[in-house]
Amino acid sequence: MKTIGIVNQKGGVGKTTTAINLAAYLAAGGRKVLLLDMDPQGNASSGLGLRGVKEGLYQALSEPSRVAEWITETSQERLSVLPATPDLAGAGVELVDEPYALRDLLGQIEGFEVVIIDAPPSLGPLTINVLAAADALLIPLQAEYYALEGLAGLTETVERVKEALNPKLKILGVAITMFDGRTNLAQEVEQSVRAHFGELVFWSVVPRNVRLSEAPSFSKAINQFAPLSSGAAAYKRLAEEVMQRAEKI
Ligand code: ADP
Ligand code: MG
Repeated sequence: MKTIGIVNQKGGVGKTTTAINLAAYLAAGGRKVLLLDMDPQGNASSGLGLRGVKEGLYQALSEPSRVAEWITETSQERLSVLPATPDLAGAGVELVDEPYALRDLLGQIEGFEVVIIDAPPSLGPLTINVLAAADALLIPLQAEYYALEGLAGLTETVERVKEALNPKLKILGVAITMFDGRTNLAQEVEQSVRAHFGELVFWSVVPRNVRLSEAPSFSKAINQFAPLSSGAAAYKRLAEEVMQRAEKI
């Protein structure tokens, strides 16, 4: 079982959109995939149709041996979700001294080949738990002027967690999201991101595509909502790159 955390402490950079659609294409490609929603806002859960759920990851963290009870199948074959509920926000406090709570929970999960974790927009205890549990990280970067700003904080935190909690942790790659090819700015940002991160940057760049933002309100990932859209094509290619890289970890 490979565990990939989707992390960036900035909000609105495409973490949840990437988590949902990456998970969906990995499942479409034949893998048994669990999308684990670590953000109390629960957007990954609702985007796949799990709304108003009463119990989920929060309960599973306190009773890991019962985790199977909270794992829910979606309308897509091979894709399941461990949903977030608002009470997960309170877990931030409880997890301050428990960096391995999520790792311990993952130890109780069976029957999946890939776990994709949607992290919240912070570097707090929930995200530390993601970093301590993951085999690898995927960092979405929005193609805008301040894309690289704040990333020093993330890479420092990753290094610290690696030393103290999770020596095997790797950065699987950086994915450029919400790319608007009509602007020079977006192209300049892509160049500077590639100059900074080199081969870590995935070749597949996710374009700004309204279909991607519409899909969650229809409770579908893009492969089922608009499979011929530019957003779908980009996430399909990204999933292929992720599988190639993940086989080496
Ligand atoms: P995060 O999880 O990092 O906060 P989201 O994935 O929720 O980011 O994206 C923020 C907003 O941008 C959402 O409304 C989402 O639907 C929209 N969005 C994300 N990626 C794209 C894209 N490639 N094209 C158009 N809209 C997008
Ligand atoms: Mg999100």
